[in-house]
Amino acid sequence: MSGTKTPVRPGTKAGRKKRPARRRRRPTILSRLLGLTLALAVVTGVLYALLHLVGWGRETTAQATPRPTVQAAATAVPTATPEPTPGLPAADLDSWMLRLIDYDHPLGEDFVPEELADVGDGQQLDSRVAPMLLKLMEDAHAAGYTTYVCSGYRDYDTQYSIYQRHIDQYTAEGMTEAEAHAKTRLAVNYPGSSEHQSGLCVDLLEYNGQDMEPYIGGSGLMLWLEQHCAQYGFVVRYPDGKTDITGVEYEPWHLRYVGGQVSSYIMEHGLCLEEFLDLYKEG
Ligand SMILES: [Zn+2]
Repeated sequence: MSGTKTPVRPGTKAGRKKRPARRRRRPTILSRLLGLTLALAVVTGVLYALLHLVGWGRETTAQATPRPTVQAAATAVPTATPEPTPGLPAADLDSWMLRLIDYDHPLGEDFVPEELADVGDGQQLDSRVAPMLLKLMEDAHAAGYTTYVCSGYRDYDTQYSIYQRHIDQYTAEGMTEAEAHAKTRLAVNYPGSSEHQSGLCVDLLEYNGQDMEPYIGGSGLMLWLEQHCAQYGFVVRYPDGKTDITGVEYEPWHLRYVGGQVSSYIMEHGLCLEEFLDLYKEG
């Protein structure tokens, strides 16, 4: 088979035999051409890529410019962060309905509401608030509940006597004056610092009785009030778990009028009035 290795010219017998060799050469040329083409393509590709890289670098710097814009936009969000409490109602903190009344913010001995109106059961509220409570009670009745207005407006003297009665009772039980005051103030506001003197709040029960336990346990009316009082501008003023802030124990029956938008916000977010007012101080 060494003969096949000898170059043979075409036309000879051996040439025929060489055909396979020719065939081998043709593919070689073709493959070389192909190789060249491929090489060219690769070189072109590499050049292209190199050019691109250069261009890319420019693009990156070009992109780097917009990046700060993106970052600026990102920091623009924190800049707009003074809006961490979105949806806060536009509230006039100096308005009569948002007045904070507690031991540190007393109404004083002489405060009397401008005008009072009857709300039933011998009780009265500020005339601006009374219609809202009447509507609330009407709807509560329609929902199947009975209501009893245990306490509405209380003047200073009434508050004083209620408070003093508790002190007398506790001291009679053996408490010191200080202990009696501490215990009393958890349930009865100090004279001059009770919301009841404002005429803006009401103790609403299901029936006339002194036993408050069923209400704290969650009676039907109390649950209904928690869900619906905001619709009438009221909030549960002394919510469960907020005693450290309000200074008053949980009172599901004590509704305070604060106005429509504010009441919705407070009840939806589970706040007490103090926490709500603080939201505006942060801004
Ligand atoms: Zn009350």
